[in-house]
Amino acid sequence: MPDVLVLVDHDGERVNKTTYELLAAARRLGDPAAVVVGPPGTAARLRESLARYGATSVHAAEFAQAADFLVTPAVDALELAVSETSPAAVLVPATTDGREVAARLAARLDAGLLIDAVDLDSSGVVTQIVFGGSYTVRSQVTHGTPVITVRPGAFEPEELPGGAAEWTLVPPAVDPTTSARITDRRTVLAGDRPGLTEAAVVVSGGRGVGGAHGFEVVEELADAFGGAVGASRAAVDAGYYPHQFQVGQTGKSVSPQLYVALGISGAIQHLAGMQTSKTIVAVNKDPEAPILDLADYGVVGDLFAVTPQLTQEVAAR
Ligand code: FAD
Repeated sequence: MPDVLVLVDHDGERVNKTTYELLAAARRLGDPAAVVVGPPGTAARLRESLARYGATSVHAAEFAQAADFLVTPAVDALELAVSETSPAAVLVPATTDGREVAARLAARLDAGLLIDAVDLDSSGVVTQIVFGGSYTVRSQVTHGTPVITVRPGAFEPEELPGGAAEWTLVPPAVDPTTSARITDRRTVLAGDRPGLTEAAVVVSGGRGVGGAHGFEVVEELADAFGGAVGASRAAVDAGYYPHQFQVGQTGKSVSPQLYVALGISGAIQHLAGMQTSKTIVAVNKDPEAPILDLADYGVVGDLFAVTPQLTQEVAAR
């Protein structure tokens, strides 16, 4: 079986769930080979959990300043791993960084790039949902090693007890004179909530929430579920909630088990980022709101009257 390289998304201590999903996707094409980029010791910490979710090998590209650079170390490590293993494909999470890594890698390899895959079959045919969800497209790379970004939540992680990953050290090759470096770091609020793209439940607020203060009801419901908070672009543009929580075409793509839309009309650009959620619940005071056409469960009413009752109900369980 050929290797399938998977770029590992991690925080230094633990592997993000998206990576486990990518390992499951990779198994459809070959043997998943995890590529870990980070300071020395990172891969050793992550190796066991990577093996448990199907990685048959781990390529560790480690150097002391790894966290100081943006995407270049990952692109370098993947390029090197491709030249050494001739993989069937490279899978990268469709996150903000992942998209940039994938585009740069495909350009360096002169290879085809497919973005935002929601499915993948054993012959390498990728399913994408495009134009804000209007079309489902199936495509296949015909030139070079396919580079594929995979939408978080699109695949179910598969735990494989007894797995053991082989270990390879890849020499890092970052050129500090040509690589973007992080000079200032700001911690963004996320609290104890799970990451937006890996949460099983996402509760999002829109312009209907009415202001930053109004997001408290959104946060309370998210916390009752142990979920993440999202926001529509209108809410973000109005300054109600920070941009990193935006869901949609120009924000994050999410596919949780449950997506709750509070005061969100359901513009096509918002749907593009959440319509593959397994179950969708919407609360909107307008019975004509398009989100209610997509929702599995719709409540027509004032979100400030409905949401606290929902929160109370969920918290009581
Ligand atoms: P609105 O459309 O104003 O809807 C607010 C809703 O709240 C209404 O349906 C109203 O009935 C309801 N409401 C009001 N008060 C209450 C209440 N008390 N209780 C219950 N319901 C209430 N949008 C995104 O979200 N993500 C994107 O990534 C994105 N990218 C875009 C990219 C481009 C190129 C463009 C052109 C647009 C993009 N948009 C995106 C914007 C998108 O078109 C919409 O403008 C936006 O999604 C609307 O956000 P909203 O639903 O919160 O606001």
